[in-house]
Amino acid sequence: MAGAVAELAKRALASDFRAIDPRQARIILAEASPRLLTAFNPSLSEAAKRSLEEIGVEVRLKASVTAADCGGVSLGSERIETRTIIWGAGVMASPAGRWLGVPTDRVGRVFVGPDLSVAGHSDIFLIGDVAHALGADGSPLPGVAPVAKQQGRYVADLIKARIAGGKLPPPFRYRDSGSLATIGRKRAVAQFGKIKLRGFIAWLLWSMAHIYFLIGFRNRIVVAMSWAWSYATFQRGTRLITGLSGSRMEDMPMPAPMDPSQPNQVRHAA
Ligand SMILES: Cc1cc2nc3c(=O)[nH]c(=O)nc-3n(C[C@H](O)[C@H](O)[C@H](O)COP(=O)(O)OP(=O)(O)OC[C@H]3O[C@@H](n4cnc5c(N)ncnc54)[C@H](O)[C@@H]3O)c2cc1C
Repeated sequence: MAGAVAELAKRALASDFRAIDPRQARIILAEASPRLLTAFNPSLSEAAKRSLEEIGVEVRLKASVTAADCGGVSLGSERIETRTIIWGAGVMASPAGRWLGVPTDRVGRVFVGPDLSVAGHSDIFLIGDVAHALGADGSPLPGVAPVAKQQGRYVADLIKARIAGGKLPPPFRYRDSGSLATIGRKRAVAQFGKIKLRGFIAWLLWSMAHIYFLIGFRNRIVVAMSWAWSYATFQRGTRLITGLSGSRMEDMPMPAPMDPSQPNQVRHAA
């Protein structure tokens, strides 16, 4: 997101305004942990940070947002005045755990056992974003689509085996086919087991993977052509001109301050 905003401000919108210079936009990425993209190898975290800095993003590590309101954010004692805050610190799981009255983690995911059932309820399974399942290394599996898909298939097989009275499958084991994260034009990081890629090659792979997983040949062609056009022209397909005639930003209603302790609050202000 930070990379996309930087490219919008410094490339796509650079010559669209007479009164302001979008290239002067200051984009600050505040990250509470000591490195970016913690699911990746530390060398790729460093590569991601460098890439972001190259396109003009100020990366602040070990910087927890302690307060946010319509005038800016606070990082402890430091105050950053801004009208535009993009909060991307995670999502909450659905309230299934509360309905079941079973223990959940900080973001509401229900702790499940090796067969993805809830402790003490062998007939209740939870999969995907709502499940707190452990990987082979003992750490919780990430909330990503491949985990949800593999868990779905696993539970379907397990239920089928139970009904048929056959041999039950062994405990669920997530097969990680790799992770990709895009940072911007020609910039991404990719990790497949011990293989680590960065830069243009990783970005190409990221693009191809996303086109490959689209449903239908027509969709793939349309998206590939649209991306090629954006890539060649530096332009984005949609331009939104916002603002009310005769009104000032100050007059527009501002939402209530966000509570940084709640991970599910998403506010996009642009
Ligand atoms: C912005 C964003 C970007 C992401 N990007 C990636 C990515 O690039 N790669 C990746 O692997 N993963 C990505 N993810 C994560 C991925 O989308 C999830 O991990 C995955 O969709 C989880 O699948 P799920 O079936 O558990 O939940 P979901 O796909 O969220 O499906 C849950 C469904 O249940 C429905 N539902 C919810 N509550 C109720 C209710 N009370 N009654 C009935 N229906 C209900 C919802 O409408 C939804 O359709 C992203 C997530 C977000 C939010």
